[in-house]
Amino acid sequence: MKRAIALPLIGIVTVIIYVYGSERIPSLPELKANLAFLTAAVEDRPLTSALLYFGTYVAIAAFSIPAGALMTLAGGALFGFCGGLLIVSFASSLGALLAFLVSRLLLHDAVQRRYGSRLARFNDGLEKDGAFYLFTLRLIPVFPFFVVNLVMGLTPVRARTFYWVSQLGMLPATAVYVNAGTQLAQLDDAGDVLSPGILASFALIGIFPWIARRTLAFWKQRKVYRRWRRPVSFDRNLVVIGAGAAGLVSAYIAAAVKAKVTLVEAHKMGGDCLNYGCVPSKALIRSAKLAHQMRNADRYGLLAAEPAFSFRRVMQRIHDVIAEVAPHDSVERYEGLGVEVLQGHARIKDPWTVEITLPDGNIRALTTRAIIIATGASPFVPPLPGIDDVGYLTSDTLWERFSGLDAPPKRLVILGGGPIGCELAQSFARLGSSVTQIEMAPRLLVREDSVVSDYAHEALQADGVHVLTGHKALSCDVHGGEKAIIVEKDGVRQRIAFDELICAVGRSPRLKGFGLEELGIPVGRTVETNAYLETIYPNILAAGDVAGPYQFTHTAGHQAWFAAVNALFGTFRKFKADYRVIPWTTFIDPEVARVGLNEQEAREQGIPFEVTRYGIDDLDRAIADGTARGFVKVLTVPGKDTLLGVTIVGEHAGDLLAEFVLAMKHGLGLNKILSTIHTYPTLAEANKYVAGEWRRAHVSPRVQSFLEGFHRYMRGERA
Ligand SMILES: Cc1cc2nc3c(=O)[nH]c(=O)nc-3n(C[C@H](O)[C@H](O)[C@H](O)COP(=O)(O)OP(=O)(O)OC[C@H]3O[C@@H](n4cnc5c(N)ncnc54)[C@H](O)[C@@H]3O)c2cc1C
Repeated sequence: MKRAIALPLIGIVTVIIYVYGSERIPSLPELKANLAFLTAAVEDRPLTSALLYFGTYVAIAAFSIPAGALMTLAGGALFGFCGGLLIVSFASSLGALLAFLVSRLLLHDAVQRRYGSRLARFNDGLEKDGAFYLFTLRLIPVFPFFVVNLVMGLTPVRARTFYWVSQLGMLPATAVYVNAGTQLAQLDDAGDVLSPGILASFALIGIFPWIARRTLAFWKQRKVYRRWRRPVSFDRNLVVIGAGAAGLVSAYIAAAVKAKVTLVEAHKMGGDCLNYGCVPSKALIRSAKLAHQMRNADRYGLLAAEPAFSFRRVMQRIHDVIAEVAPHDSVERYEGLGVEVLQGHARIKDPWTVEITLPDGNIRALTTRAIIIATGASPFVPPLPGIDDVGYLTSDTLWERFSGLDAPPKRLVILGGGPIGCELAQSFARLGSSVTQIEMAPRLLVREDSVVSDYAHEALQADGVHVLTGHKALSCDVHGGEKAIIVEKDGVRQRIAFDELICAVGRSPRLKGFGLEELGIPVGRTVETNAYLETIYPNILAAGDVAGPYQFTHTAGHQAWFAAVNALFGTFRKFKADYRVIPWTTFIDPEVARVGLNEQEAREQGIPFEVTRYGIDDLDRAIADGTARGFVKVLTVPGKDTLLGVTIVGEHAGDLLAEFVLAMKHGLGLNKILSTIHTYPTLAEANKYVAGEWRRAHVSPRVQSFLEGFHRYMRGERA
């Protein structure tokens, strides 16, 4: 009821003020023109003038009229620095409080009711640190004050807190403006604008946000480091925890710039990529592809043959490949580069000390100026009832377990329809397992466009994978010695018997057991970092899978550069991790490769785009190779050749993508790709042809008709 009356009333008053008031808001020249008259009025009736000014200021702030800065300058000009500051400080805070209360009264409940669940995290944050956020917003005016007043009214921040934090937070900026106002009063003619006092005051307005930001950062840092004692000197410049892609690259960079760096690895040098991820999976894919090609040799005029092979030897080859790549990531190589490598479990004891439990049980403590957390991720195992009883494999365990088998598992269930699940499903199906792949989402590779998912689905099915999308795994059990998983789709349950179950439903960052909890470093799904990859302690940074948002070897290495440089040189200059052009590939057959946006993401983000597609089924080299399937799909800015994203499905798509990655990174458009010579006949010509498709679609009809006329004229035809 209260609201039913208040809403129209406030609405009417606001409209009246805006309609009649906006024309009456004076400009700076007008203020200066009337300054003498106003000053005389203030001298004549100081109290009345101050009250009038105070009331006007409150009304302006309460009704969010955009005249606050001018009024504050006027305050300084009319009442001097101290008087102006006193009046403006209280008037602006009171006005802000009124705006806050109006917003709370009218909109708070409706907004929280409608978006409550989505705002839950935001509300929690504000409950905990609302005063600090508000103080920051007041101190660094990134948003206009009136927006802050209204938005804060929608949040759980208490009115009392809002008032005092606003008053305190706005004080420095108010002081700067009031001071500038006092100088304004001394302007006699235009030449005075160049007086040092005025210039200094306005310069202060300009640099104030920067000073405020620096002060806040300093204050925040002092707060987080307060409970720790900083060593006077350090044993190391950098300690890196984890020797996977992120850790290795960080340590490499540090050693290259002559920093004293220690790399600590608890398990195997090279991390997941070398030992359980990219390397073994790609070696497996190669053997599986060859088996597939032998089976289909008749497509090439040869005799098709069911490949006879020892699975044990296929698995042995995988371990051989790992062993051959291992020297790239070995202790010897890194020590040769100048990195101290310690085998052991690292634990961050305080912001400058890392304790390493060595294999012999001894503990070694190292003090260090900076620490990089590069602890990676481990496979996530869904908590299905009975899963421990049936036993399961993950990418961490399958390579070891399968190397003891003479034949691939007869019935294999793969849980997960993402890149890892798809690569493993196709490979083991090609090597002879009867594979069932279970995915809860309605399609495989859900991050890709649905047309890509369709390609993947068809390709896997063609290799004999029984793909069950839209199926939820419920539980596992063993009946009469037979292991099975129970799945459900549309209320219908199905029991799928298996010999081996591989969980490939995602990988969780390793966040526990090395000191994050004790240091109070916030974690969500990953370690929380800012754009410079710093945790709340600027000298403790994170890179790779543990930091997210991507989980690839090349992004881990990419982040490592930023983390290492910021860790070692951040005192002077910091770099924000750059995620603008991130490519990735799913190595199924045909490969799926992408950089930038796809259609579904562009739509979700409301980004306008044009699509150009080239079918690889038309490409000479692909036809000759018997791999004529797939496409290159390019998203561009409408009417321009600027690339927004590229998806390629086809043989060696991951390699073909490199040209577009380079183009996007360096701002080259499709015209540049079109004007580049591509060797004939190569798969890479597909890139040029898609650029050609785009060009053809953008030839101006006017130019075409002009050319037609020109050639007609040249042939000597009249009309
Ligand atoms: C099957 C599979 C296939 C994949 N294929 C690809 C692919 O084709 N392309 C691609 O780009 N990516 C691929 N990935 C992903 C890739 O492996 C990861 O993104 C990459 O390994 C991440 O590197 P990282 O340095 O962040 O972590 P990791 O490689 O996991 O390294 C982290 C290291 O930290 C160590 N560690 C953890 N805690 C401590 C501690 N407290 N003290 C000391 N050491 C510690 C761990 O032992 C580990 O060695 C694949 C992953 C899997 C599982």
